[in-house]
Amino acid sequence: MNPIKSSNRRNFLAGLASLGAATFAGWPAKALAMGRKADGTLAASASTNIYDELGLNTIINGWGTITLIGGSLIPPEAVAAMDAASKHYVNIPDLLEATGDRIAKMLKDLPPDHTTTVTSGAAGAIMCGVAGTLTGEDRELISRLPDLTGMKSEVIIQRVHHENYGYNQQILASGVKMIDVEYPDDVHRAVSDRTALFYFVNYLDPRGRIKVEAWAQLARQHNIPCFNDCAADTPPVSHLTDYNKMGYDLVAFSGGKALRGPQCAGLLVGRKDLVRAARLNAAPFDPTLGRGMKVGKEEIVGMWKAMEVYLNNNHDDLTQEWWEKLEYVSKALRKVQGVSTAFFIPEIANHVPTMRIEWDPRTFSLTSHQALDFLRSGKPAVLLEGGSDGVSLSMASFLLQPGEERIIAARLKQMFQTHSA
Ligand SMILES: *Cc1c(COP(=O)(O)O)cnc(C)c1O
Repeated sequence: MNPIKSSNRRNFLAGLASLGAATFAGWPAKALAMGRKADGTLAASASTNIYDELGLNTIINGWGTITLIGGSLIPPEAVAAMDAASKHYVNIPDLLEATGDRIAKMLKDLPPDHTTTVTSGAAGAIMCGVAGTLTGEDRELISRLPDLTGMKSEVIIQRVHHENYGYNQQILASGVKMIDVEYPDDVHRAVSDRTALFYFVNYLDPRGRIKVEAWAQLARQHNIPCFNDCAADTPPVSHLTDYNKMGYDLVAFSGGKALRGPQCAGLLVGRKDLVRAARLNAAPFDPTLGRGMKVGKEEIVGMWKAMEVYLNNNHDDLTQEWWEKLEYVSKALRKVQGVSTAFFIPEIANHVPTMRIEWDPRTFSLTSHQALDFLRSGKPAVLLEGGSDGVSLSMASFLLQPGEERIIAARLKQMFQTHSA
């Protein structure tokens, strides 16, 4: 959710609340009827939408990897692997080690003393990763958290990262104090024998005074491990190893965002000893702080196979396809007087082809808010991002299912037709 400005995010959350039954009163029964076979049982064909059974509207995702609506969709190869994983018992710590090492091997230029482990999302990777830097592989210390007796107790972070970050609680859960700094001099003053970790939030890099590479160098200089939260920062694919090569000891990724693994999975990539320590702080082990951060065998296998698919993709071809989908929608909108489109790629987080759709407020009596309401009131709902200027929308195409760009184009045209001033 990181690329979203907090004000936008609040509007968005408020808006999603209205995606409930009131908006769609009446349709669930009809939808159910459509999915029924002659004998009255539900048809379980590929075209059946399981959410119809619950009376829930589904969403065409023209925005991004939004946790609140399910992150991303898992490729069929990984879904098939999850099904296969569900058919046998297996030793979970062995499975975590084997899949983690396989994924590490797929990341060709990962430093040789680094590996990976599947976690319960990036948030789980943060919690267990931080815990591991405090406890190492000592079972006695692990069982003591969040009581830090006998352990280091402080995490150094840039103030602007700390203040704008949604995952501080995953750090604080282990009992540490977060120490805010702004300049390198502050860092030198803040470091003490209590310092456990230097923490960095990748998408906030443009806002901090100390940039991502300099932060790793400062950590090196003081011989303290450093962590980078890169949850939503692929593409580019190279980010899966860039920060480890830069000197970061632990890097967290969300499995359920652009990597398209299971939504509840994530990846911790880093120094072998710290990855092992992170694992020991999580399920299936107890007593541990991370006992509630369980990843099932199906998700562990699903994440491994999703990484295989992701790394085998031709990312240039995919990017081209994403541009073409945006161009399709743009072409449809160019025929509408008073509407214009522009293309860009956000610098960081959701670094994918994106299109801005702007309209002349003299031609259309329509705010961004009303536009979002209109789009979400259809079946399925369409979700784009509202512009902070109040008269625009942004659309990303990387999460669309085949053909959904046509639905979006038609819905947008209809929206402009019904809102001319
Ligand atoms: C999404 C996100 C997370 C959490 O990731 P999960 O995989 O949902 O746990 C953490 N940090 C940032 C910056 C994110 O964007």
